[in-house]
Amino acid sequence: MSHATTKPLPCSAQRLAAIADEVPTPFYLYDEQGIRAAARALLAAFAWAPRYTQYFAVKATPTPRILQILREEGSGADCSSLPELRLAERTGFVGEQICFTSNNTPADEFAAAHALGAIINLDDVGHLAFVQRHVGLPDLVSFRYNPGQLATGNAIIGQPERSKFGVTKAQLFEGYRMAQAQGVRRFGLHAMLVSNEREIANLVATARLLFELAAEIAQRLKIQLEFINIGGGIGIPYHPDEPPVDLAALGDGIRRAYDETLGHLPPIALFTECGRAITGPHGYLVTRVRHVKATYRHYAGVDATMADLMRPALYDAYHHISVVGREQEAADRRYDVTGSLCENNDKFAVDRALPRLERGDLLVIHDAGAHGRAMGFNYNGKLRPAELLLRPNGDLTLIRRAETLADYFATLDVEADFARG
Ligand SMILES: *Cc1c(COP(=O)(O)O)cnc(C)c1O
Repeated sequence: MSHATTKPLPCSAQRLAAIADEVPTPFYLYDEQGIRAAARALLAAFAWAPRYTQYFAVKATPTPRILQILREEGSGADCSSLPELRLAERTGFVGEQICFTSNNTPADEFAAAHALGAIINLDDVGHLAFVQRHVGLPDLVSFRYNPGQLATGNAIIGQPERSKFGVTKAQLFEGYRMAQAQGVRRFGLHAMLVSNEREIANLVATARLLFELAAEIAQRLKIQLEFINIGGGIGIPYHPDEPPVDLAALGDGIRRAYDETLGHLPPIALFTECGRAITGPHGYLVTRVRHVKATYRHYAGVDATMADLMRPALYDAYHHISVVGREQEAADRRYDVTGSLCENNDKFAVDRALPRLERGDLLVIHDAGAHGRAMGFNYNGKLRPAELLLRPNGDLTLIRRAETLADYFATLDVEADFARG
C-alpha cells in the first residue's frame, strides 16, 4: 500500500495560478482528457459484454458540454427528472440512448421519457398501470430491483431493506407476469445497490445477484431479458493513499460471473450507469483563501462554501486539498477549511494538515467533478460558481457562467400583487 500524500493537478501550478488570475474564484475546472480517458477505460473493461452501454448518470455533472463529450465517447444518458431528460435531448441523445431511472415519478415525466423513446426503469410494480393509464403501455418494461436482505449495500446508499428504491423479488416476478399478460415482449432488469464502492468483490456481487436473477426469470417466466443494468456506484479514490478501482479486473470478474450464470442463454446486453467514476476525479473546485483565523483552532476561510460542494457536510466525505505552488512545503499546521455560510458544518476539511496558509493562497479541492456543483444551492444568498473546461490542447473554455445577482432575483420577477396592495 502506497502512502501518497499528494494528488496531481490538471495542469501546472503556474498555469492554474494564471487561470485564477483571470477567472474569479471560486470556479469548477474539468479536465476533458481525463473524462474521455475514464469513459474509454470503462468501455475497454466491458468490451467482452454483449452490446455493452454505459449510460452517464446526468445528475453527477449536468452540464451540456460534459454530456456532449461523453456522447462523443459512445455514452448514453441516465436521467431521473424532466430537466435531466431535456438536457439529454438538447445534447443530442435520442431514443434508447436515454434511460430514465426515476422514483416517485409524476405522470408528465413518464410521458416525456416515453415521447423521447427512452428506456424506462420502473421503481414500483404499481407504476406499470400508472404509466399505462397516463402514457400508454410501454413497448419495453424494466423494473428496478431491491434485494432487501439478500444484499448489504454500503455506507452512502444504505441497506437495501431500508431503501426507498425498487421492488421486492416477488413483486418483480409479478410485474413481469402482468406486463407479459398485456402483450409486452421486451424486458429489462435494473438495480443500483452500492455507491462509491471500490471493492471489486462487492461490485461483482451486485452483478452476480442480477445475473442469477435473470437466469431464474428465464427459467420460471420464459422471459429472455434484453438487458441487465447493474447501475452505477463504481468508486473513486478520494484519499491520495487509496488505490483506484482496477477496471480491467472488475470487467474480468463480472465476465466470469456472467459466463457462470448466463453463459447457457442467448446474450443479454449489459448496461452500467456510472457518474462518479467518469467525471469525479476530473473536476476540481478552485478557491482562494480569504482570511485565516486562530481561535481554539486554526481556520482557513475560503471563497467557496458547502453551497458549491456539499459532500463533506452531507457525507463527511474526504476531499483532498492542494495548495497551489506549495506542494513541496511541509504540512505543519492543522486547519479547518471553511466557507462563509452561517452553518458550522460549512467545512471542506476538518483538522487537515496543510502548509501555513495566508490570505490569497490558491487551493484546489480535488475529486469534485461528480455530485459536486450539481448538488449546489443558494443558501445564504450564495451564487453558484462557473464551470470551465481544460481542453486536451491546453485551451480553456467557459462551459457555464457563474450565477449573478440578477439570476438570484430572477424568480422574484412576478406580478407582485402584495407589493401593489
Ligand atoms: C446516482 C445514481 C447513479 C450514479 O451513481 P454514481 O455513484 O455516480 O456512479 C446511477 N444510477 C442511479 C439510479 C443513481 O441514482
